[in-house]
Amino acid sequence: MKKVIPIHPGQPPAPRFEGGALADTRGRAMHDLRISVTDRCNFRCVYCMPREVFDADYRFLPHDAILSFEEIARLARVFTGLGVRKIRLTGGEPLVRRHLHRLIEMLAPLDAELTLTTNGSLLAAQAPALKKAGLNRVTVSLDSLDDAMFRAMNDADFPVAKVIQGIEAAAAAGLGPVKINMVVKRGVNDQGIVQMAERWRGTGHIIRFIEYMDVGSTNGWKMDDVIPSAEVVRRISQRWPLEPIGANYPGEVAERWRYADGAGEIGLISSVTQAFCSSCTRMRLSTEGSLYTCLFAQTGHDLKRLLRTGASDEVLRNEIAAVWQRRADRYSEVRTAETAKNKKVEMSYIGG
Ligand code: SAM
Repeated sequence: MKKVIPIHPGQPPAPRFEGGALADTRGRAMHDLRISVTDRCNFRCVYCMPREVFDADYRFLPHDAILSFEEIARLARVFTGLGVRKIRLTGGEPLVRRHLHRLIEMLAPLDAELTLTTNGSLLAAQAPALKKAGLNRVTVSLDSLDDAMFRAMNDADFPVAKVIQGIEAAAAAGLGPVKINMVVKRGVNDQGIVQMAERWRGTGHIIRFIEYMDVGSTNGWKMDDVIPSAEVVRRISQRWPLEPIGANYPGEVAERWRYADGAGEIGLISSVTQAFCSSCTRMRLSTEGSLYTCLFAQTGHDLKRLLRTGASDEVLRNEIAAVWQRRADRYSEVRTAETAKNKKVEMSYIGG
């Protein structure tokens, strides 16, 4: 790391990495930005937006409270100026935000990889326009191949076949290799782990198994519900031997394993049993423009107020840099049954 000029005049110089990336208090570089473009979703996944809470009376954000495409694009430009090189659009369900391809067109010229996480329900129709607008890749969530189980987990009676159509349309449009996320919950869908691995082996797409997490305050998370990634690897290896492979880049969320027979790779996201806080380079911008430095945060930093009171790019830049430089989050390293009860911000609001 080398030292350069201070971000705030009169204060000591801010630590930075070679190449200029900002470092937080634990020496982690700012690299990834997740942007929640809507807090709404057309699914009610039982572990994320349980219908009892997100029901007809639930007050989603009104349109004037959420960032416009112009506001998002302006912030994204400031973030890339500070070292962000990967932007993921998420939500809620990003594809329910109208004309999303227009936002992608605005973000595409930035010096950052542009990706999107979706439940896949609207992907088949939108994939060509998303690609044309400049999207690089997509990640699609799919928790089961068993249609009845999947319909029950998304609690919107949505069929597996349509999500698979979305995955295929994305690949055909040039948005591959598609990453497919399966959240594994013990006693719910874990019997489908090997079947899921089999479905995507040899296709070039990458299935990633996610440990069920205590995000938000509404999903009633218990440690007993978590299937550790080591168990996922064990179950799949019994059928097709796996071997670990290195990360594509420092701070990559998924641990990578490949099939010894050459049929491709899988990913494991193990926030609960193998916390990766020490290499976490991510921030999240909520739908209404608050910046969060951890998925498990309780509070954010209001950037919308600055945007809407005429702040210059330099003011925005200094504010974001200062938030990153104060960052000390390490929730997954200190998680207990007690911390799981903390009032945390919902994932649908902060962006998954
Ligand atoms: N609607 C989009 C989707 O379904 O992918 C994007 C938002 S969603 C919140 C992003 C990802 O977070 C999904 O892959 C979802 O399965 C995952 N997720 C949500 N709640 C989770 C939890 N409690 N534990 C682990 N992953 C979770």
